[in-house]
Amino acid sequence: MDELIEKAIKLAKDYLKNSYSPYSGVKVASVAITSSGEMFTGVNVENSSYGLSMCAERVAIFKAVSEGHRDIKTVVIVSNRDGFTYPCGACLQVMSEFNVETVVVTSPNGEVRVHKLGELLPMPFKLK
Ligand code: ZN
Repeated sequence: MDELIEKAIKLAKDYLKNSYSPYSGVKVASVAITSSGEMFTGVNVENSSYGLSMCAERVAIFKAVSEGHRDIKTVVIVSNRDGFTYPCGACLQVMSEFNVETVVVTSPNGEVRVHKLGELLPMPFKLK
């Protein structure tokens, strides 16, 4: 496995503790790796008004974008829930907007799957 991805998985695991998930108990952390190799972390942030909750992947991507990055190459996702945690449809669409190529999902027992974004979102919505 790519050394950068291994480093990102480790970083994401360190951030799981920052997840704000008092309602579901599902902790998710993500790392967005830019085309220049910089890493931005994110965690899921829940809300009493459930619909306002935000996914870890979008937090990580938006942090990167707000720092001026527009090309995000890879997104890594870790969680405390059993099995693999895949991104939701909204996050896949946001990944498409910022040219994500690779999505790395993991399970709590250390299994890793590497996907191309096109496998998970074969026909994204595009205005141009
Ligand atoms: Zn999502």
